Amino acid sequence: MQQAIAKAVPCAMAASSSFACARVKCRLNLWPGMRQLCIRKNLLYGFMRIFSMPLKTLRGASRSLKVAQFCSVLNTSSSLQIELVPCLKDNYAYLLHDVDTGTVGIVDPSESLPVIDALSRSDRNLTYILNTHHHYDHTGGNLELKARYGAKVIGSGTDSDRIPGIDIALKDGDKWMFAGHEVVILETPGHTRGHISFYFPGAGVIFVGDTLFSLSCGKLFEGTPEQMSSSLQKITSLPEDTSIYCGHEYTLSNSKFALSIDPRNDKLQSYASHVANLRKKGLPTVPSTIKMEKACNPFLRTSSSEIRRSLKIPATASDAEALGIIRQAKDNF
Ligand SMILES: [Zn+2]
Repeated sequence: MQQAIAKAVPCAMAASSSFACARVKCRLNLWPGMRQLCIRKNLLYGFMRIFSMPLKTLRGASRSLKVAQFCSVLNTSSSLQIELVPCLKDNYAYLLHDVDTGTVGIVDPSESLPVIDALSRSDRNLTYILNTHHHYDHTGGNLELKARYGAKVIGSGTDSDRIPGIDIALKDGDKWMFAGHEVVILETPGHTRGHISFYFPGAGVIFVGDTLFSLSCGKLFEGTPEQMSSSLQKITSLPEDTSIYCGHEYTLSNSKFALSIDPRNDKLQSYASHVANLRKKGLPTVPSTIKMEKACNPFLRTSSSEIRRSLKIPATASDAEALGIIRQAKDNF
């Protein structure tokens, strides 16, 4: 059965070897209950592992195709598994599992049911809930999950009055430990006042919520272009191979805007067609990498003369001013 599945559907990320998972290799495996879940809820499911080997792979499955295909992401320095949990219409929550201790956390649970499903399937408990910001589509599952599992809620001290059930309030530069994995807190305001990102340097991954999307950035609900620009700079100053886990599957729609203002960007063109391919198969475009975003994301290319020409941004405009104009253009796109 596994052989047949392998022939029918090649690993989507392996097909994208020049993109986010440049060193991806696929392998077949069995994830108990996965196919049943795929069929039952007709949702997309992705799974990522970081183990103790110098090789990256990704495993994921498309419920609509009724297949279970697996790749694993492997890393020398970490035993952190990351599982994508699709929520609501286009949100992703991320289940974190430390292989050594069995500790489990969830990043931005919009709703509780898909998370409970994922935990039940692997017979796991939940220890931590990590929130990047207070919006309901990132915290909607907090109270139910906290009540059911006794999990501790971690979020921004700036927004402790808006994050349901918060237990541990953190600020910029704080280092918090998730089962032996150092987590560096980066305050990344712009989308909301108290937005934070969770950076796991050992695993080379960052959870950025709605600050940075693949090929875009979050809307400026409570911040200025200057704040967003500085938040994005903080994130993009991390190592280029850092994997970026954002809060929404927006990449395909973002690619259309990006191409409209940066049409001659070869890397963007290739990435956009890769993204379209993934979405056609119902597969996630997350994670991206800092390297890819720097090359293709218009909000990180504010000094590009092509983009400035497209939007008539004066050469004298600062990067933050350019970001504000690009954001406005996208809001009206
Ligand atoms: Zn938000």
